[in-house]
Amino acid sequence: MAGPLLKVERLHKAFGTHEVLRGIDLEIDEGEVMCIVGPSGSGKSTLLRCLNYLEKPKSGAVFLKDEPIGVRWQGDRLYEMTFDQLARQRRRMGMVFQGFHLFPHKTVLENVIEAPIIVNRTPRRKAVEEAMALLEKVGMKDRAHYHPAQLSGGQQQRTAIARSLAMRPELMLFDEPTSALDPELVGEVLATMHQLADEGMTMVVVTHEMGFAREVADELVFMDEGVIVEQGKPADVLLNPQHERTQTFLARMR
Ligand code: ADP
Ligand code: MG
Repeated sequence: MAGPLLKVERLHKAFGTHEVLRGIDLEIDEGEVMCIVGPSGSGKSTLLRCLNYLEKPKSGAVFLKDEPIGVRWQGDRLYEMTFDQLARQRRRMGMVFQGFHLFPHKTVLENVIEAPIIVNRTPRRKAVEEAMALLEKVGMKDRAHYHPAQLSGGQQQRTAIARSLAMRPELMLFDEPTSALDPELVGEVLATMHQLADEGMTMVVVTHEMGFAREVADELVFMDEGVIVEQGKPADVLLNPQHERTQTFLARMR
């Protein structure tokens, strides 16, 4: 592919008069891992939600392989996508949140096969086969028949990752996936994400885990007050931040 996998152009988002995103430009190549860091309230979650049109931008655009997200051209006019078109497009991006949002009354395996069977009409036997392979990958194969309540937060989050992967997304969006976890469970989820990155998955990860960002990210983005203040190779940004706001933020993280 010639261009970037995902492209964000002059993105603005406001809630009422509160401008939360004030002109974001980003490009993410296939296979690239981008970590986004920044203070609480800086617009990181809103940016992720705009990427798959869970939030509608005020202006600007997001492109996935050159296709605009949420809107389409018909002749020379721009239209909002229909719900079905949008749903189809959203499935190209997996999303993992801070909370795990598993179906509580379903087992791990049932959680993972749900969307492939219902949405993609994958035959059950094939869906189970693929789900078990994914559960093995995230280290949850031996818990396939457990219910979420019987699992640790780390196990639930690894299941949520497998469930996202079951839809074969072209990229994965993570919004503080380890922030709700007890400290001793953070590592296993980061290890799963690290492995996914090593396998070539394109990932956008909002995180406070600077160790993960330093080790795994190709690109580190520092956001504050709705703008990208600084971005670059993690080692450069972390060891030699150019902007005072980045320096202050990183000093507080230590
Ligand atoms: P971050 O993820 O960096 O902590 P958010 O994107 O969640 O930041 O929020 C950025 C700003 O937008 C915050 O001031 C927040 O209060 C505001 N905000 C987020 N979502 C909404 C919403 N649905 N309605 C109104 N304000 C919102
Ligand atoms: Mg957030």
